[in-house]
Amino acid sequence: MTASEPVTDEPTADGSGSRLMVSECFGVEVPTFQGEGPSCGHPALFIRLSRCNLTCTKCDTKYTWDWSQFDPRKESTKRSVADLVAWAASSPVGLVVITGGEPLIQQTRLVPLVRALTAGGKRVEFETNGTIAPAPELMADGVRFNVSPKLDSFGVKEAKSIVPDALEAFVVSGRAAFKFVASTMADLDRIAELADAHRLAPVWVMPEGTTPEAITATTQVLADSVAARHWHFTTRLHVLAFADTRGR
Ligand code: SF4
Repeated sequence: MTASEPVTDEPTADGSGSRLMVSECFGVEVPTFQGEGPSCGHPALFIRLSRCNLTCTKCDTKYTWDWSQFDPRKESTKRSVADLVAWAASSPVGLVVITGGEPLIQQTRLVPLVRALTAGGKRVEFETNGTIAPAPELMADGVRFNVSPKLDSFGVKEAKSIVPDALEAFVVSGRAAFKFVASTMADLDRIAELADAHRLAPVWVMPEGTTPEAITATTQVLADSVAARHWHFTTRLHVLAFADTRGR
């Protein structure tokens, strides 16, 4: 069901001819915000890459990987690094979020993209599930990682979604925040166990939900306990503002 098959690389001297499997790009034509995590509310451009190495049942971007429901010929295109850099450069917005799916499946081809974006004055924020250690070349000034390990309760086996060596690489990078989706107090207890076991900090909690009503209800359930643990709390601004419309 997943489509994490390798993408043929097409190297050029500076990598600009490499092509990435892209699901969608948005934020230039119709401006938007980063909706989650440490940069919530910041104007942002989004490059959503296709494919994932997990199959979470609660995934809200199944069009990046679940070919039993979606057609990969319609849901993904190959776009060159040069094309993506030109697209981002056409906007004055300084933050580029590279998300998925799981973007680090394609990290070899992401190195020239990140180099070009940061050389052009952009900041880059990766959204990753934390199962793949980032390449050293991605540990550059202007690059941050929002690492979102998935719990059993999100519909994936933690035996697959919790990869200690990869989490360790993010911890030692000093460039990561660890953002967990939660809906219950039991989720918060499990997050605490994982944070202690793997020294994950800072911890961010995000309420599960794809409607404003669900986000609000879960926020109220979790808020006191998140505050008591001295963790960070984020909403899902794009759900509240844009009703989780795709491309916002
Ligand atoms: S890791 Fe993220 S993109 Fe991949 S299946 Fe899970 S929720 Fe979806």
